Amino acid sequence: MAAKNIGTYHLNRLTNLPDHLTIDRIIRHVHCDEYFVSYVPPDIRRCPHCGSADCVIKDSGYTQTVRHTASHGRGTLVTFHKRRLRCKACGHSFFENPDWIHPTLHMTLALYYQLAMDLMQKSAIKAIAETNCVTPATVSSVLSSISFGLPSHLPETLCIDEFKGSSGEWQPGRSRWNVNRYHCNIVNGDGEKGYILDILPQISAEFVKKYFRQFPLHERERVKFFCCDMHNGFLSVAKEIFPQAHICIDMFHVVKLVNDTVSEVRKRLQQEVKNDKELWKLLHGSMRTLLLNEADPKNTLAVNNPRRKEKLVFLFSRFPDLEEAYEALQAFHLVCGEPYPILKRAALTDWIERYTASSVPEVEHLAHRIQHWRGYIHNTWQYGKSNSPAEGLNNNIKVLKRVSYGLHDFETFRKRVLLCFGAVQLEREPFTIFREKREGKVLKL
Ligand SMILES: [Zn+2]
Repeated sequence: MAAKNIGTYHLNRLTNLPDHLTIDRIIRHVHCDEYFVSYVPPDIRRCPHCGSADCVIKDSGYTQTVRHTASHGRGTLVTFHKRRLRCKACGHSFFENPDWIHPTLHMTLALYYQLAMDLMQKSAIKAIAETNCVTPATVSSVLSSISFGLPSHLPETLCIDEFKGSSGEWQPGRSRWNVNRYHCNIVNGDGEKGYILDILPQISAEFVKKYFRQFPLHERERVKFFCCDMHNGFLSVAKEIFPQAHICIDMFHVVKLVNDTVSEVRKRLQQEVKNDKELWKLLHGSMRTLLLNEADPKNTLAVNNPRRKEKLVFLFSRFPDLEEAYEALQAFHLVCGEPYPILKRAALTDWIERYTASSVPEVEHLAHRIQHWRGYIHNTWQYGKSNSPAEGLNNNIKVLKRVSYGLHDFETFRKRVLLCFGAVQLEREPFTIFREKREGKVLKL
């Protein structure tokens, strides 16, 4: 029974129902509570088919029960009466839909908003269903009611990166999933903290180009900086789609390339001495020592360690190739440590000149690759850009993927990613968006 002593106002607030409803009674079932509510129907009855206000009551209608937000850890249902009306103008019959009920899903708007807000958190659909005392299918129905279109604008700084995924499309003809191993992450890198503009199921240059061609030319011309890693596919995208943009490559990847070269040389030498266990062990054990950045003040203590020095002297006397690779790495760190872009450029030119003539094949190959990317490295220094917004958001995507135990369907995955890390959270108040969504609009970020 509804408590008669407390006012309707308080009761409605406690049950998360609109103020103008009257709770007639509450029935306690085993797994949920059911609220029976009544309300005064609005005076204006508008036809959903033609918009005419000239509607009459056709019959008494029927009683509907919908899901509502959980209260004290218990699921709730709301039962109310719906009238059936007939439009005099077009002759259609329709049920009067109160504005606090979702027009197509069997739930109150309060629950719809609650579930939509929960979908913006990094948690699994099953977990969201449990906290709201509904079935996972109900949560999924909210997710499928939301759809994201193409972003409306492109940013000034566009970051693009790849990430590993396992989502794809269900192919009914072949009864299997068509899964792409790598997906592409497009990030708005303007400002302090980037956000995800969109994710694409494939990373092939053709696919990415096709995607960007959907934007009109004046939008594409807004992009001033295109940040990516050392991936020739992205390079061709930038050159073809954003001819005005300055291409910047992330320094992290360049340094990683130099580090990898040192490791490559070490591994080759290890192979050569694999019969000499002692020497093999020494080389294998020097993995981290060889990658130490001597220019970093944090490493001063390690650099001056006499045992390390001794070890290196021995290794270098035995393997001159390793010394060359090590020196190339340290010289590269010094290049990056130069204070001004102009000094960095000059130092890099010297570096390339020196090591393209190297006798160690790995180092020579590396120098040629750096030469290939030199112009973009210069841009990175000059404009101070990096791909870190994309890299950071990739980590967040990974977390979402883990907590969801994998998201098979790419479109569902995309919606979750855009809800959790897209512009919804940063630019606009989410409620407005969901309200627009209710009117059947596609979300544009
Ligand atoms: Zn009508």
